[in-house]
Amino acid sequence: MEYALVTGGSRGIGRAICQKLADSGFSVIINYKSNEAAALETQKLITETGGIAELLPFDVSDGKAVDAAVEQWQSSHLDDYISVLVNNAGIRKDTMMIFMQDEDWTDVIDTNLFGFFYITRRLLKDMLTHRYGRIINVASLSGIKGLPGQVNYSAAKAALIGATKSLSQEVGARKVTVNAVAPGFVATDMTASLDEASLKKMIPVGRFGRPEEVASLVNYLASREAAYITGEVISINGGLYT
Ligand code: NAP
Repeated sequence: MEYALVTGGSRGIGRAICQKLADSGFSVIINYKSNEAAALETQKLITETGGIAELLPFDVSDGKAVDAAVEQWQSSHLDDYISVLVNNAGIRKDTMMIFMQDEDWTDVIDTNLFGFFYITRRLLKDMLTHRYGRIINVASLSGIKGLPGQVNYSAAKAALIGATKSLSQEVGARKVTVNAVAPGFVATDMTASLDEASLKKMIPVGRFGRPEEVASLVNYLASREAAYITGEVISINGGLYT
């Protein structure tokens, strides 16, 4: 059986992606770091509608933890493989650079960038052996245009976009596609502290995006129909930046 693994699938955009992929018939692996209650809620939402979902907690920024979790999953799924990987787990720690502490920088780079590296490297071999795979990286508007207060986050997301383009050229011949989506403001826990009323005045469509809207795009890129799209960065931002 083919599985789809979504990092940071417990909440927000990741939860919506898990649900959408399950609706499309994928068996879903919900990764999360610590919020088990939220991950169980995602699982419940999927199983209630007849889908299949498993939990697989690990910290994406911890290479050893990633390897151990994948090894454990693979040893109990000898006939299965993960054909879709959505690198969605992410954090932000915003502050102007002049005030930025070492851990503001390293935590954001470790989760948003090293997190992509550890799990993608681990799952690539199986995708290449099976000569099929879909990797979708959740980047950000911030990684394309930069945003003040997000030097750490913009650097991580811009690097993720570079990695997407490079990797797509390494694995295209084996029918593994690698793409990024770059959301603008999406209503989740991550943006809950922002002043939506004033920020939405800058957005041509006049509102924050919904996690389900990002999930639909990811779902398409994860499909077999998307075989000829690779190395792309697709913005989904209500026209905020083009
Ligand atoms: P969110 O609601 O804060 O959820 C973050 C998710 O990432 C949670 O599932 C969390 O797990 C998980 N996570 C965080 N650190 C992790 C780690 N070290 N290992 C494993 N999982 C980890 O965030 P969101 O708004 O849905 O954002 C999802 C992605 O979209 C992120 O990459 C973010 O940068 C990107 N993005 C968001 C927006 C936006 O406006 N919301 C815009 C552009 C890009 P726990 O539940 O266990 O904490």
